[in-house]
Amino acid sequence: MLLLYVVFSMDNLDEYLGGRIIKITDLKPETLLYLKDHGGEVVTATFKKNDKLFCRRCLMVIEKLPIDFQYCRSCINLGKIQISDELLITPTDIRYPRQEDYLVWDGQLTANQSKGVRELILAFQQHQNHLVWAVTGAGKTEMIFPLIEQVLLKGQRIAICSPRVDVCIELFPRIQKVFPKTTVGLFHGRSEEPYHLTQIMLATVHQLIRFEKAFDVLVVDEVDSYPLAGNLMLRKAIQKAKKDTGIIVYLSATPPKELLKQVKQHKLSITRLYQRFHGHPLPEPHCHLLLKPTQFLKINPRLRLLIARLIKNKQRFMLFFPQIPAMKQFAKQLKKLYPLLTFVDVSSKDEQRLEKVQQFREQKVQAILTTTILERGVTFKKIMVIVLDAQAKEFSKTALIQIAGRAGRGKDSFDDEVHFFYQVYNQQIRKACDEIRYLNQQAKK
Ligand SMILES: [Zn+2]
Repeated sequence: MLLLYVVFSMDNLDEYLGGRIIKITDLKPETLLYLKDHGGEVVTATFKKNDKLFCRRCLMVIEKLPIDFQYCRSCINLGKIQISDELLITPTDIRYPRQEDYLVWDGQLTANQSKGVRELILAFQQHQNHLVWAVTGAGKTEMIFPLIEQVLLKGQRIAICSPRVDVCIELFPRIQKVFPKTTVGLFHGRSEEPYHLTQIMLATVHQLIRFEKAFDVLVVDEVDSYPLAGNLMLRKAIQKAKKDTGIIVYLSATPPKELLKQVKQHKLSITRLYQRFHGHPLPEPHCHLLLKPTQFLKINPRLRLLIARLIKNKQRFMLFFPQIPAMKQFAKQLKKLYPLLTFVDVSSKDEQRLEKVQQFREQKVQAILTTTILERGVTFKKIMVIVLDAQAKEFSKTALIQIAGRAGRGKDSFDDEVHFFYQVYNQQIRKACDEIRYLNQQAKK
């Protein structure tokens, strides 16, 4: 088979290489010719199956519209694909410059993590899809370092994806730092950096729609989180983006039922990591029934008592709200009642989200008010975690477990407290608390 060397000089070919799906009309004729000559494949933009018309890029059904030029509405955000279009799937047989000792990291893995690493590498060698069920704070990122190294040593390519852009952004510098000898790229809808071929790719799951049979190993972090959960197009994109011989590695602290079912059916191998890297159990939430609403007398007096104590003790804390308006309202009252308290509030709509999170991390403010946007992917030390209106529908069992998992992450603050406040004790609160207790019991075995 013809192998491509990475040519960074000629016509910026690396902008196209690596299993990208590109409309041929978007390519210069000479580029198209070159890519075709080197293994690129021209295909029609649609295909028929069971009398339905499907889009080759996003694999969704193309619904007929009452217009002349039919197009795929599902992936329109990535540029319009008409049914008469032709697409180029760009070459994927690429030879990367070979190195030794790719991994530059002097950290230590725990015995549990090492066992996980062995299982991951075995799955890679046996071409077996794998799930890592690791409790929050177990150190799953460090566990994939040796796997990445194995992939690189074989001259192969790996993508690490998450549905959440914040998770990708946090992960990127960590991966770049420990793999300085190869190319690492970070691509998502909001990044300025245009796509180019890299041996390690970090990206949102959305980006995978643009790829076909591109990766030898595809790691999907936070597989249970929004917007991946329940999104058929994204689930298809994951399957499509890996090579036929490639594998998918799912990482999750709260794996979805479908994956656990696949484990039972032996379609998926599994690593279970019930212990946090520091060996201490997950903080179990303290549950408090509030007889009056959170906003009662502006801020419920029971909450005021707690907040006053936190301020007096200079204890840092995170306050989780189900919705942005409730958070904003609370922030206003907080400012009035405690003018000396320093805090920031962040939500998905906040342009300065990353900067504000950084302020809290650097201890420039004592508290952070947030929605579920910070339920995962962030690590702070010595904090109390408080959930208000824990009965709200936005706080699923998974969200509550993830939020509780923000506490106790540091070696010297493993016993950070978690508090759930609610007006109704419902299923999701009970299930979240039960699961945390279950995981702690398993960890002791
Ligand atoms: Zn489409």
